Amino acid sequence: MVNQAHFSYPFLIASMLSIAFGHLVSVQEAFVLLFAAFAPDIDFLAEMYLKKKYPKKVINHHDFITHAPLFYVIFVVGISIWNIKYGMLAVYGLLTHFIMDTLISPHGIRWLYPFKNKFYLWTDFTKGLDDTDKWLAAYKKLPIYKYDNIAFVITIVLVIALYIV
Ligand SMILES: [Zn+2]
Repeated sequence: MVNQAHFSYPFLIASMLSIAFGHLVSVQEAFVLLFAAFAPDIDFLAEMYLKKKYPKKVINHHDFITHAPLFYVIFVVGISIWNIKYGMLAVYGLLTHFIMDTLISPHGIRWLYPFKNKFYLWTDFTKGLDDTDKWLAAYKKLPIYKYDNIAFVITIVLVIALYIV
């Protein structure tokens, strides 16, 4: 999925749940959650670099180890030892990222890598478009992209209203 989606849906769900349970997500909790939900896509920078270096190759950041969920176990354990609440928020943020990428992305997520090399993908609206730019162009034509942008605007407004103003 796109960054707007990775950023917004986990935050909106967590905010609604936290309000329902009478505890507002603190600014630190919101930061950990948003960072973890977005973190795997930082590998996009490596994709950009490699694409410049090898312009003829189809390179997709979903093939990198940073998009293998088990890669994060060591970080999550480390954070949890330090602070269990932040550890759980990191798990939540990362899981939402990989679930969304399993729902719709160029070719899914290797949930069991390095034990199994299989990519898991639930929908195939944009399957086979391994080049990120082509995939993005196809995704932007889907109705869900509108909801992603609406959710993103609501998230930005909420973050400003709850934590900045
Ligand atoms: Zn991703």
